[in-house]
Amino acid sequence: MRTINRIFLHTAAHGTATQNYDTTVQQIDAWHRERGWSGIGYHFVIRLDGTVNAGRSEDKAGAHVAGFNTGTMGICMSGHGDHHPWTAAQNAALMDLLVSLLKKYGLWPSLIAEAQKSDDALRVKLANVVLGHREVNRITNNPQYKTTKSCPGNRINMDSIRATLGQRVKAEANPAPQPPAAEVYDEATAQALFTHIRGLYTLASGMKWSDAMLDALGSIRKDARVDFLITEYKKKHGIP
Ligand SMILES: [Zn+2]
Repeated sequence: MRTINRIFLHTAAHGTATQNYDTTVQQIDAWHRERGWSGIGYHFVIRLDGTVNAGRSEDKAGAHVAGFNTGTMGICMSGHGDHHPWTAAQNAALMDLLVSLLKKYGLWPSLIAEAQKSDDALRVKLANVVLGHREVNRITNNPQYKTTKSCPGNRINMDSIRATLGQRVKAEANPAPQPPAAEVYDEATAQALFTHIRGLYTLASGMKWSDAMLDALGSIRKDARVDFLITEYKKKHGIP
């Protein structure tokens, strides 16, 4: 298995303002062979209906981002991202594919770790792991590798794609809170509470405490943890 540290997203740039084409692997393969490449340069193509087709073998370096084909994976979305946003089915399939690739290539745990630090830490990490082709300009100062392409398209907002992906990471980083653990009975604490609170009630009646003070004492007595311990203590010791 290759070592992967980044995934790049692309558009097939296939279509017009009025027509979005459901570009196939075979079409892209033919275009790339015309350029003299060994075949399709992307590892996956996601069709308009969300079908994920395999392109170049994952085990082989792609041909999709000049200067960054080593250690990266290329996903191409059918259609034309300058004219049409990705379909809901494409977006959903992309999220599933990204999650599965990030897990398969061992990048998921570091994303979980960043998510556990802060939303900002996760955002920064994701921006360095999942990029649109045009965003290569963020990570290189080499003019040879800078691009003027809009790929994956002017209609594609990479920050919002990463935010959606970030929600998937966070869902696993912060699992739903567990119900509170069952109360644990502690004899020493229970006895101290029982003795002292009973003592205060005895004092209260002798000293004729004000309603406000009695209310304060009552709110302590009714606290869930206090009530649990006193109730258990009375049961254990047969106190009515
Ligand atoms: Zn591209």
